[in-house]
Amino acid sequence: MSDDVRELPGHFKRAVTCAVVFVAAIVGGLLVAYLGHASGSSGLETFGEIFACVAFAGLWIGSILVTGIARCPECGQIMQAESLPRMSTGTRFECKRCGQRWRSRIGVGDDI
Ligand SMILES: [Zn+2]
Repeated sequence: MSDDVRELPGHFKRAVTCAVVFVAAIVGGLLVAYLGHASGSSGLETFGEIFACVAFAGLWIGSILVTGIARCPECGQIMQAESLPRMSTGTRFECKRCGQRWRSRIGVGDDI
């Protein structure tokens, strides 16, 4: 029973959504920087670069939060990843309340 590791539903979709939002923000920031550069507006260029950097930091932190913390679909308990996510094995969680083990195929550093 305790060896029964189930796939964590919705985890992959959540991580992809998070990544898409931040990648869009990075691209948007770089686009603003490019437009600022092209039009000779250094203020706009700097703003775009800072925005892209903040979006990049957000993507990094967000990916750790999304892949390192999950809610147990059985009882709603917040679970922390058992170990650092790996690309090969994904992320494993064990619910402290109901003992169910979960795994997600998302690992930090996955190209998503
Ligand atoms: Zn649970």
